[in-house]
Parts: sequence; C-alpha cells; structure tokens
Amino acid sequence: MKIDYLRVSVTDRCNLRCVYCHPLGGCDLIDRKEILELEEIHRIVELFSYCGIKKVRLTGGEPLIRRNIVYLIEKLSGVEGIEELSLTTNGVLLASLAQELKDAGLQRVNISVDSFDRKSYKEITGFDLLPKVTEGIYKALEVGLKPVKINSVIIKGINVSQILPLAEMSLHLPVAVRFIEYCPTSQYTKPASDYVPNHELRRVIERKFGPVSSVFTSAANGPASYFKIRNAAGTIGLISGRSSMFCRDCNRLRLTSDGKVKPCLYSTQDYDIKKLIRNGSDDESTVRFLKNILQEKDNFTKLNSSDDDFHMQKVGG
Ligand code: SAM
Repeated sequence: MKIDYLRVSVTDRCNLRCVYCHPLGGCDLIDRKEILELEEIHRIVELFSYCGIKKVRLTGGEPLIRRNIVYLIEKLSGVEGIEELSLTTNGVLLASLAQELKDAGLQRVNISVDSFDRKSYKEITGFDLLPKVTEGIYKALEVGLKPVKINSVIIKGINVSQILPLAEMSLHLPVAVRFIEYCPTSQYTKPASDYVPNHELRRVIERKFGPVSSVFTSAANGPASYFKIRNAAGTIGLISGRSSMFCRDCNRLRLTSDGKVKPCLYSTQDYDIKKLIRNGSDDESTVRFLKNILQEKDNFTKLNSSDDDFHMQKVGG
C-alpha cells in the first residue's frame, strides 16, 4: 500500500469530554511548549509532501479550538503536492468557521456526532451542545465542504438506540454516516465489552430499512466499506477496526500534537520529528528521516503493537 496520507493532531485539547475518548480526569494535558507551532506543522507537512504524502487531515483534540486554525489551513492548502486537505471536528464551532475554512482551502470535513438525542448526546460528551453540532452539519453542506462525513461510535448501554436515527440521516442528506467500532484505549474509557460489532449494526439497519446495496470506493479512500439504503441521498460506512484487520489497507501515518510521527495508531513506537527540527536539522536530513519512517511503516500492524494505554486525543483519532 502506498503511504500518502498524514493525519495531523494540531492540539490535544478538546471542548468536549467524550466517554470513549477524553473523559474527565482521564488524561494529563501536554505542556503547551511541547505542542508543535503552526509554522512547524507547515514545515513538516512540506517535507512530508517531498516524501509522497498527498492527503492531509487535521484532527486532535478538537482542531477548531486551536488558535489561528484558519491560517494553518491557508498555509497547508498552498503546499505543493498536497492534493486533499480535510479536517475532523466535533462540529461545535463549525457553523461559525465553515465559510472561513472553506475560503482558506479546506476541501472536506468529518463531523463526529454519536447521538441525535439531546440527553444522550450530553451523556456521551458532557455538554448540551447538540443544536450547535447540527447547525455545523448544515453549514458545512451549505458552504460546499464536500463530502461531509458523519463519524459515530456506538457503545452498549449508551447510544445503541441512536443507530437508526443516525443511519436515517443518510436517507435525507447527501452525507456519509460512518460507524466506527469503539476501540478501548485506557482504563478511563469504557470497557472493551461495551463495543458493538459493525455486522450487528448492519443487521439493525437492514431490519428497519430493508436490504442495502454496496457502494464501490477505491481502496485509497480508506478502510470504510460503504453501502446505501434504497433511494437514500447519502451513504453509510462501516469502519470495523476491532472486528477485522485492515492493516494491509492502511495508507496513513500520524503526527501527534507534540511532534511525534506514529506509523500506526496502536504502535508504541514513535519518531520525534519535533526534536529534530528544533535542533536545527536541515531539510535534506529531515526528509531522509521521514523516508525511513515510511519504509518502517510496513513492519507495523495491530498484531505487533503493545496493549499499553494510549490517548486518542493526543495521538489524533
Ligand atoms: N475532536 C474531533 C472529533 O470529535 O471529531 C477530532 C478528534 S476525535 C479523537 C476523532 C475521531 O476519533 C472521532 O470521530 C471520534 O469518534 C473517534 N474516536 C475517539 N475515541 C475513539 C475510540 N475510543 N474508539 C473509536 N473511535 C474513537
């Protein structure tokens, strides 16, 4: 698989406290001086583009709370060789920023929402902000961020009742609603037994909406498999990171908010690029360093990673 996709966590801070990701008390924050400066992110992305990276997604933490995020998008959209620039957000601040982000060069957006019921949304995220998120979804569609994808994590005892309302959104709006299997990350998040396998979820959707048809997408579009409810405006995607192995189809690397390159979400091995560039490494040797990581990526799979805790909002989900 050609590695051409970089996920960049621009901050470990978040304005929500989702029970499966960044629960209250669940994680120490990184010292601010250890967080990459915007200019450092820009330089690292430029160097990665020399190594064949063509797609960049900004994530976090919550990327829209990073000061001057619009400026960063503008800088990254000007990097030669980067063909696709996208962002994953919880949507809380999206309505107010969508137009500026689009004008700065953002092409597409993934919006995370796990419930359309205000009470359970608050139970999951800690905040009563669902109306802001739905406003953000409509605004993203209105300004032409395309495609708009919805990311949902279903957890037993919390939001199983939301599978159908979430799937139904794809009937009426031209969005891809993607169900991401819950991945337990630390002792502070929900236990592994609370995950709902995607094949069960698909059965629930078919029982209500009838048989669905598969939608072909290129392997380069990532590990989701897509299908469509009859006559739907949008699609449904399943990202089955727990119930199946898609390491061989993984085309991505991650850059953490404190400047480490990770070849795999689950790997404990990382490569400190911040240290290198803060020590004055020139472009040529930094590119060599990055090319080595790209080669190493082939040796990493979920199977040879450790079971240690990791924090999704630090690494960037
Ligand atoms: N704050 C942004 C957001 O909410 O989309 C970006 C960061 S968040 C870590 C990125 C994605 O990771 C979200 O779609 C979230 O649902 C997913 N995620 C976080 N923790 C997860 C977990 N334990 N298992 C599966 N997905 C998770």
